[in-house]
Amino acid sequence: MVMFPIRCFSCGCVISEVYEEYVSRLKNGEDPNAILDDLGIKKYCCRRMYISHRLDKDGRELFDDIMEY
Ligand SMILES: [Zn+2]
Repeated sequence: MVMFPIRCFSCGCVISEVYEEYVSRLKNGEDPNAILDDLGIKKYCCRRMYISHRLDKDGRELFDDIMEY
């Protein structure tokens, strides 16, 4: 199991609160950017935390190395 960070690495904002909703909507095939807009994740640094965390085709959670970005 991949743990999602509780806080944004860059600004320290708590980002885990809406994570479960984000993942459930992602599994429904919604666009990540649209979900983040809806959830009020506005800062680019925080959005990056979500967008780099995604599901593979089998629905498993992946967390790309943040240093790639
Ligand atoms: Zn941030």
